[in-house]
Amino acid sequence: MEELLEGLNEAQQQAVVSTEGYIRVIAGAGSGKTRALTHRYAFIVNELGIDPGNVLSVTFTNKASHEMRRRVKKLIGGEQDTGFITTYHGFCVRVLREDIHRLFYPKNFIILDVEDQKILLREIFEDMELKMNDKTFKRILDKIGKLKGNTHYVQQMILRGEMPIPDDAGDLDGQIIQRYLKKQKRVYGLDFDDLLNFVFVLFEQYKEVLEKWQDRLFYIQVDEFQDSSLKQFELVKKLSRKHGNLFVVGDPDQTIYEWRGADPKYMVDFDQFFEGTETIFLNQNYRSTPQILSLSNALIKNNYFRVDKDMVTENPGGVKVVHYHGKSEIEEAQWIVKRMQQLVENGAEYRDIAVLYRANYLSRFIEQELISANIEYTIFGGFKFFDRMEIKDALAHLRMIAMEDDLSFSRIINVPRRQIGKKRMQFLRKMAEQDGLSLYETLKKYIDHDRLRRTGARSFINAIETLKEQKDALMVSELLQEAMQRTGYEAYRREDGDQERLDNLTELLHSIVQYEQTLGEEMELEEYLQMISLYTDDDRDDQLNAVKLMTIHTAKGLEYPYVFIVGMTEGVMPNVRALRERKERALEEERRLAYVALTRAEKELYVTESEGFQNGGQRKYPSRFIFEVEEESFERIGEIDQSLIEEAKEYIRASHHQSKSLQTSGYNIGDRVSHPVFGVGTIEDIDEKKNTYRVFFDKMKTPRPISRNFKKLEKVEE
Ligand code: ATP
Ligand code: MG
Repeated sequence: MEELLEGLNEAQQQAVVSTEGYIRVIAGAGSGKTRALTHRYAFIVNELGIDPGNVLSVTFTNKASHEMRRRVKKLIGGEQDTGFITTYHGFCVRVLREDIHRLFYPKNFIILDVEDQKILLREIFEDMELKMNDKTFKRILDKIGKLKGNTHYVQQMILRGEMPIPDDAGDLDGQIIQRYLKKQKRVYGLDFDDLLNFVFVLFEQYKEVLEKWQDRLFYIQVDEFQDSSLKQFELVKKLSRKHGNLFVVGDPDQTIYEWRGADPKYMVDFDQFFEGTETIFLNQNYRSTPQILSLSNALIKNNYFRVDKDMVTENPGGVKVVHYHGKSEIEEAQWIVKRMQQLVENGAEYRDIAVLYRANYLSRFIEQELISANIEYTIFGGFKFFDRMEIKDALAHLRMIAMEDDLSFSRIINVPRRQIGKKRMQFLRKMAEQDGLSLYETLKKYIDHDRLRRTGARSFINAIETLKEQKDALMVSELLQEAMQRTGYEAYRREDGDQERLDNLTELLHSIVQYEQTLGEEMELEEYLQMISLYTDDDRDDQLNAVKLMTIHTAKGLEYPYVFIVGMTEGVMPNVRALRERKERALEEERRLAYVALTRAEKELYVTESEGFQNGGQRKYPSRFIFEVEEESFERIGEIDQSLIEEAKEYIRASHHQSKSLQTSGYNIGDRVSHPVFGVGTIEDIDEKKNTYRVFFDKMKTPRPISRNFKKLEKVEE
């Protein structure tokens, strides 16, 4: 017990021992929320004697859940199963594995990522003899995403056996989407949206399933709660109903997924959803120097829609935050790399350095400099390890052995070449459709058919059949090795001579072995495959002494001693879209993103940008966020003409002014207004299309849309 509370301040300790009821912790970045959450989990297990199988701990990314598992294991000992320290999606997979058969899907359903979806669509386009490019692909996927915004389609498709059509899909798109859904069902594939939706339908249709989980999960806790969407919020709300123990931590200032449906109101209004909520505030920052903290605080204060928090730190003073301005991107990158080398000369390690950026493409010029300086680096969340062709191929072999699904089949049947090209595939698909069989079954059935006889199909079948027999006797890692040899895939890659691909395959094997060591020998092939499909990035590179490159979104919740935020340019951050929308809301989300970036730094922080032109030909200016804090907060390095600064400020002022004048013909966002019935409130937003203000009245729980033509709305001066 001592051990669990050691190294925590009073408020954190209170959070740890508050195990019963509805509790929220609201606190700024680096205040020890995640640390408190981790210790609380251990407290429940060690001090309350609750089995980890009865505690759900939701984290935001796989990386975060790995990290939390690692820390928890240190506190509670390595033996216990910590499978319920997971993401929302990871949890849904657990639920579905137990009960998805009620929706007529097998336990071994497949999880589809964007790449898989693309393959399915490509086949449909081929069969319909249509052309497809990235744009059509995106359009169709958007429409599918929209259709999956609620659960009706699951009810319709699974329970009533009908095919839903999206409302606004034109005829052809509608047909494509129908075919897509059919195919998806045939391979028993679920995409990320489906995972949550299927769980909802399961819970609605089968009360006993919901009750089982409500019974089981005595304690539920959620990290980064400010980024939960309505569905995710509904999920934990439902699950916690029986025992009434829900603990959430978050920082509304770090909401950066509004564009994907996150809504900080579940955090901010938590007490209105759950009566008797206890709220704990943490106000001491343990992560950063006073310089970094005060700069971050000063920036986020520019947001209008927020609750002010006063963060303090007792950390020793450090150096000023640096703003570097370069004459070109190359100069910017060169300066950064040089500074990194200096840091290392003075005792830092490359692994302590992180480079953060708003969008993936910005990593390129830094990468070039790192390469020429011979500095090792790792990119997180960019081109993902599990997205690489050879990794997907290898996993498809495993999936083929486990599920014999059409997707894996199509992926590997002709790699290495077995003379099964487009024509023969179309033949197979036609026969499969006609006989109601999977592609693999069809191949076996027609193996002596004229069109297939002289192909390499038979040896493929032999390999797969043998592997299927070996499946239960071998560990997953062993099975993979067998598969790579028997199917000839490894030999094929060797002949190909691409060493990097071979290295990646070895690395995959290595990661499976590691997985087996942490999970124990009980790891089922199917379960492994499902978990691996959820990976967005992973922590396999953490051991390397390499500089880390990642987007700000990926850096959420993490911390590094030395942080470089690059490309701090108007139009990049805040990004063009936010500026173009001219919505205060969008701009504020950008500012929160900047705040998340700044608060990742522990010791030294560098904000960099450079002159030049952007893609669209627009001149580059330093981001407005740099001007929003006091001059003295920065140490300025790099020559910057006063005229450029003036020009930038003028540009920002103009765009701001324009945004205000475009937004409204009457009142502005942020104005206080009074209404004859609802009383006084604040204008949160303006809906141009519907010509309404969104007004949050002080005494109401949710905002109201009020017509801009409504005469009785009056401005109040306070
Ligand atoms: P974020 O909002 O960025 O997710 P957080 O509130 O979750 O931040 P943590 O990551 O839990 O913050 O903690 C930040 C750092 O401070 C970590 O290195 C953590 O180990 C350390 N820390 C937390 N609490 C204490 C404490 N009471 N004493 C000393 N160090 C602490
Ligand atoms: Mg955290």
